[in-house]
Amino acid sequence: MSYYDWRNLSGKCDWCGEELSGRRERFCGNACRLALRRSEKAQKRQRACGLCGQSFIPQRPRQKFCDYYEDADDICREKQDDRDEDQELAEMDLAERRDACCEQCGKAVKRAATGRVAKYCGNLCRQKAYYERKKGQAL
Ligand SMILES: [Zn+2]
Ligand SMILES: [Zn+2]
Ligand SMILES: [Zn+2]
Repeated sequence: MSYYDWRNLSGKCDWCGEELSGRRERFCGNACRLALRRSEKAQKRQRACGLCGQSFIPQRPRQKFCDYYEDADDICREKQDDRDEDQELAEMDLAERRDACCEQCGKAVKRAATGRVAKYCGNLCRQKAYYERKKGQAL
């Protein structure tokens, strides 16, 4: 029995499972040691998807759901599609409501031909709002 035997009772590499020979500890080589460490790190970073509940490894710091093209299964993709649709609808609602009245005087505002949503009914209200904002900042 060699000195190293107590460290690795199975005699197999912890990562690839290959039989170990000679004086090796847990892995058959450096590559396997690094691979295991990488996967352990990834496991720690795992989060539960806010839509389907499955765990995934985030690619971006604020990612809340499975990556659409990487981890998400059909169920999750469907949910993400639904969610995007809901969001679009909500944004449209908001735009329409904004479209409805001037932020300064409350009068109805028409959407510009360019599709841009005007905040104010005209230049006068825009200027008034601008001066009021400035006044507010000065106080
Ligand atoms: Zn190995
Ligand atoms: Zn998911
Ligand atoms: Zn106005």
